[in-house]
Amino acid sequence: MGVNSGMLKVASSQDQLASVVGHEIAHVLARHANERASTKSATQMGLSILASTSGMQTPGGQQLMGVLGMGAEYGIILPFSRKHESEADVIGLELMARAGFDPRASIVLWENMQQASGGGQPPAWMSTHPSHGQRIDELDANMQRALAIYEQARQQGRTPNCPRP
Ligand SMILES: [Zn+2]
Repeated sequence: MGVNSGMLKVASSQDQLASVVGHEIAHVLARHANERASTKSATQMGLSILASTSGMQTPGGQQLMGVLGMGAEYGIILPFSRKHESEADVIGLELMARAGFDPRASIVLWENMQQASGGGQPPAWMSTHPSHGQRIDELDANMQRALAIYEQARQQGRTPNCPRP
């Protein structure tokens, strides 16, 4: 729970929170993809998880917290490698865009995260997700494609509106 409540302080919008969820799901998916599921079906699975969070109606955001809890469980295993972080960023960006969340929020989120780790107590999540200098550059490099996916999702009626927990 420390991880979750810490995250909620750093992520100040539903789109930023979706960045975290998408990134976490991407870590899980990338691991599963290596083991047995195809990348395509793994991506579908991630999408349905994100779609269900975007349809969330319950006050307190129980479902979303559940997803974050799942992410934390996987995320705590190891500090992710540079390569894994990069993969999770790119996959997570696409997942959130396809669910109708603004992918540009991911850059704001990581900027917030860097600030949070600079002063005071960094979120526990941060220790398993080291901040890499190239991260924001890479997100930028993939943004145009993610924005196109995002626009398409919005046109298809994916306009998530999560109440603040
Ligand atoms: Zn990560």
